[in-house]
Amino acid sequence: MTEPTETTDPNYDGAFDAIVVGAGLAGSAAAITMAREGLDVIAIERGSSPGAKNVFGGVLYTPTLRELVDVDDAPLERYVAEKRFSMLTPEDETAVSMRPGAWHEEPHNDSYTVLRGEFDEWLAEQAVEDGTVLVTETTVTDLLRDERGTIVGVDTDRPNGELRAPIVVLAEGANSLVTERADLKETADRSDVAVAVKEVLEFPDTEGAIEQRFRLTDEAGVSYHYFGEGAVGDAFGGGFLYTNEDTVSVGIAYRISDAVDRQPKPEETLNAFKSHPAVAPLVRNGRTVEYTAKTIPEGGPDAIPDLVHDGAVVVGDAAGLVLNNGVHLEGTNMAIESGYHAGRAVAEAIEAGRVDAAALSSYPEHLEGSFVVRNLERYGWLMERAIEDRDLLFADLPRAIADAGEEYFRIDRDPKAVHAENAKERVLETVGGWTGAAKLAWRYRKVVS
Ligand SMILES: Cc1cc2nc3c(=O)[nH]c(=O)nc-3n(C[C@H](O)[C@H](O)[C@H](O)COP(=O)(O)OP(=O)(O)OC[C@H]3O[C@@H](n4cnc5c(N)ncnc54)[C@H](O)[C@@H]3O)c2cc1C
Repeated sequence: MTEPTETTDPNYDGAFDAIVVGAGLAGSAAAITMAREGLDVIAIERGSSPGAKNVFGGVLYTPTLRELVDVDDAPLERYVAEKRFSMLTPEDETAVSMRPGAWHEEPHNDSYTVLRGEFDEWLAEQAVEDGTVLVTETTVTDLLRDERGTIVGVDTDRPNGELRAPIVVLAEGANSLVTERADLKETADRSDVAVAVKEVLEFPDTEGAIEQRFRLTDEAGVSYHYFGEGAVGDAFGGGFLYTNEDTVSVGIAYRISDAVDRQPKPEETLNAFKSHPAVAPLVRNGRTVEYTAKTIPEGGPDAIPDLVHDGAVVVGDAAGLVLNNGVHLEGTNMAIESGYHAGRAVAEAIEAGRVDAAALSSYPEHLEGSFVVRNLERYGWLMERAIEDRDLLFADLPRAIADAGEEYFRIDRDPKAVHAENAKERVLETVGGWTGAAKLAWRYRKVVS
């Protein structure tokens, strides 16, 4: 095994087969794949270390990662033993929770909470051990092109910071300024991007706070998802809460257009969410050890840009590869899968002595056949439909279901039949009777079928 190689002074013009822009999940997956195929790879990361600038909820999904590295060695926080979806009105919570026994068994449904500062650094180390040269504290500012327009390298914020290589892997994440500046993708529409703010909380004064509050033992953890007025007020989005080993990650995400037009500032919305009666007891006496904000692409399959160009490939969030539809929030698995396929395609192209887009086309071909594009296509309709129905789904229905639940279980001297009828009527009047209920079920049938 080679010793890790780290440098902060890139000066390797022409010495590499591929330059990776950003040592996040997609970038490191691509670097590992290419290095193992025998390519000379350099990864350039703007943070002081990989992950230092990364933000996510979150749960890392590991099916592809498992193929690349030994996941047992990774700095994982907890496996996800419980998933819970809560509808919040300003006062009420109505929740569905699942704790399948199988999730306690290896490989734990390939779902683990992680802290990206630690995890991304570890993943980049795996790439370095495979021979990748990692350059930190260096921001790629632009792409270099030759006279025919082929991408031939990058410019960085270092003095004399130009670096040339046959292929550039653009793995810069959702805020993909280099990719956009080079006209390789359009700037995302405001309605296709969510803004997220997140805090990591520790509980120094309450021993066993996480195990007690979330009913956990050993390495089990939870992934809680909240929507409705009580989560993000008037905005289109939701809240989340994940347990790490000794901390809790709590945050909200909603459309940037709502952040501009409708909603108080994100930090105020997060404070309101943390104060909700269903959430407050879970985060009580938490001390904030990290506060971060970031964007999430939500454009679905229509927002995926061209993935290959003469001399470059685009991977991960930079390519809009995130499934974020209220039911699923999956970007980590897509980033790693795309990095893997892109890395393979780059290796084939270099082997063939070509770097044009056609020579790299096995990357989009494999991605289209993979769960990444198939899942994005399957749920592409869901966001738009939910936006059309936002008042019903995020305000009226949560309120009606909370009222119906309260009515159904009310203890007084009326017979149960009266309460059951009242509860049913409360929901039916909100959805437009039995016909409205049937239409609603039909509109959303593809979520489950
Ligand atoms: C609040 C929030 C919650 C989320 N929760 C989940 C979740 O629970 N589960 C899930 O699967 N996904 C989740 N996601 C999505 C997931 O985080 C992303 O899909 C994933 O991180 C994408 O990986 P990436 O490598 O493409 O980009 P990133 O992880 O963003 O990595 C990009 C890297 O490039 C570097 N970089 C950027 N620009 C430059 C430059 N010009 N020069 C050099 N380096 C640069 C950055 O510093 C960073 O290290 C969440 C996202 C957010 C914002």
